[in-house]
Amino acid sequence: MPVLILGGTAEGRALAAALSGYQVISSLAGRTRTPLLPPGEVRIGGFGGVEGLATFLLERRIDVLVDATHPFAESISANAAAAASATGVPLLVLRRPGWTPQAGDDWRRVPDLAQAAALLPHLGHRVFLTTGRQGIAAFAGLDECWFLARSVEPPEPPMPARLEVLLDRGPFTVDGELRLLHDHRIDVLVSKDSGGSDAKLVAARELGIPVVLVDRPAPPPAAITVATVEEAVAWLRKAPTTRRG
Ligand code: NAP
Repeated sequence: MPVLILGGTAEGRALAAALSGYQVISSLAGRTRTPLLPPGEVRIGGFGGVEGLATFLLERRIDVLVDATHPFAESISANAAAAASATGVPLLVLRRPGWTPQAGDDWRRVPDLAQAAALLPHLGHRVFLTTGRQGIAAFAGLDECWFLARSVEPPEPPMPARLEVLLDRGPFTVDGELRLLHDHRIDVLVSKDSGGSDAKLVAARELGIPVVLVDRPAPPPAAITVATVEEAVAWLRKAPTTRRG
């Protein structure tokens, strides 16, 4: 059963590793120069929109499409839903749940990065920005704040005037995050509600630092969605296929 996994996430890699006995093709966007590669066949780069993805599904005779992309990768998820619908290939969305607050958290939820930038000067002036390289531009106009931005790849302009970039890739530990926040005298944290490892949120809670959390975009409509790799494997084992004769 050929399965196409749209990845770029730890879940995508874990699913590819868990699907022994399947013919798995993993797809990455090609955003990082040294990507963490899943086992099995990997293709890198965009498909060329919905049509390109639909053509790939048909040409490679894909039986199931799994959208295991990041919850904020809105375009590829919309494309996956449209291409699945156009070709009749079943679509499974593997999406880790967002974070839920605990006692002691001081979270401000905002709908997007622009709202996060608007709120920041009211909360603090030494900001730890963990929105990823592409999210840094939204904070470019905030001259009153100093930023520590962590990303896998170096950001490109526009960027805030007072910015230190920390090139690093998770997983991160609570101890490491506590040290980072302390050493840089961080007084506010900005993150997308990505879900997964919450070391930075635990550290912020321990230090009483407010967190600006950007809400997820709406998921693609009417897709079958699971939250874990185990659930995805179980679904795939039962999945009806579209196998064309
Ligand atoms: P996006 O805005 O949703 O996608 C933009 C375009 O990039 C898509 O239309 C598609 O090009 C191509 N693309 C994206 N993911 C792809 C994939 N897995 N395989 C092949 N092409 C892909 O995506 P993004 O937010 O820039 O994220 C890019 C990748 O990084 C995703 O795979 C995602 O899982 C990963 N990632 C994103 C974030 C985040 O915060 N957004 C964080 C961690 C990892 P075509 O239209 O030409 O097919």
